[in-house]
Amino acid sequence: MTKVRAKKFLGQHFLTDEGIARRIVDSLAPESHHVLEIGPGMGVLTKYLINRPDTDFHVVEIDRESVAYLHDHYPTLDVIEGDFLKLDLNALFNEPYAIIGNFPYNISSQILFRVFECRNQVGEVVGMFQKEVAERVAEKPGSKTYGILSVLLGAFFEARYLFTVHENVFNPPPKVKSAVIRLTRNNVTHLECDEQLFVQVVKAGFNQRRKTLRNALRSAGLPVDAVPEETLAKRAEQLSVGEFITLTKTIQQCI
Ligand code: SAH
Repeated sequence: MTKVRAKKFLGQHFLTDEGIARRIVDSLAPESHHVLEIGPGMGVLTKYLINRPDTDFHVVEIDRESVAYLHDHYPTLDVIEGDFLKLDLNALFNEPYAIIGNFPYNISSQILFRVFECRNQVGEVVGMFQKEVAERVAEKPGSKTYGILSVLLGAFFEARYLFTVHENVFNPPPKVKSAVIRLTRNNVTHLECDEQLFVQVVKAGFNQRRKTLRNALRSAGLPVDAVPEETLAKRAEQLSVGEFITLTKTIQQCI
């Protein structure tokens, strides 16, 4: 079967460098035995994952043409044809699983929000994002790129920026640089505050990130009376995960 034609609307940029493909697959922790690959395309990562020892391995691919290609080249592979964002992950695995991929960049944030929602099942994420998204996830407080996903994922995962990837190792090349990151689940099972409110507070803070927390939280309708003056004068990007938890606990008492 001939190669898959790259479709822009599906974020298809096929990796052509085998060394990088192997490096991504080798970044998975050896103890990850249940693995889901998102968007395998023509299988540049898949072919290394198939032979991984002791691995229960599945792939999810939305593109029909890629699915046909995978069936042709990897007849024993379990290919789920569909949208990762709509996949019932609990039906697929009973155990914690790892997610891997050279991800479709048009849905990067949605993939990461899904990882956050499924945080009690996802043990690890290894994969390629646009460099800017990768940096944002791995960012520490105080920087301009530190944002909602840095805090939400930071509460439950250890993020590590692994390496940068140049655009010319893809066909077609994307407009931006890429980077591979690894998220490893930490041992926090529950935050010491209401988790839904935590998400609301983080989003409210960053949705108006130039404003002080006093204004940002107030305009989201959250009660700030019990919050110390010192915190209210700060902006969201200055708060660590721990400080967001403390802030949420204080707000919680007034609701
Ligand atoms: N992993 C391959 C392809 C990367 S391009 C490589 O490295 O060469 C991104 C892939 O994600 C494409 O195959 C695209 O069809 C697939 N994709 C896009 N949106 C998707 C979705 N919502 N669910 C599953 N796969 C998706």
